[in-house]
Amino acid sequence: MSGDLRDLYQEVIFDHYKRPRNRGALEAATHHAEGHNPLCGDQVTIYLDVDDGVVKDVRFEGAGCAIATASASLMTEALKGRTVAEVDALFRRFHDLVTDDNAKASPELGKLEVLAGVREFPARVKCATLAWHTLNAALRNRHEPVSTE
Ligand code: ZN
Repeated sequence: MSGDLRDLYQEVIFDHYKRPRNRGALEAATHHAEGHNPLCGDQVTIYLDVDDGVVKDVRFEGAGCAIATASASLMTEALKGRTVAEVDALFRRFHDLVTDDNAKASPELGKLEVLAGVREFPARVKCATLAWHTLNAALRNRHEPVSTE
């Protein structure tokens, strides 16, 4: 990754950390779940409004470090209007992006690409995937809190 690209990615992460998008509870939530990353202390609650298999709205509360907060914020932006099947596919792609050195960039990932750098920091992968694991639990109506440990 070139230095310029890395700087740009860090700028986007910092922006989402300082000004998280879609933060707050969702009154009309059809699904919700809580997640916790004990290693870093990140905590997140994901709220979803799913209608007829399509994500109408998604919000989050909590989070923690810059990576966990930015990842949750970027995730909420990426999900609106997608079907649950598309969300599952995106989660797999995102998981590959942050864990697999050979993962190829995918246009579908869009801005989520800025988190690719965490794969160099294994402890940070849990920060970056916490919101996604919690989302997954919410979609499947699992109500016991998710833990990355
Ligand atoms: Zn963290």
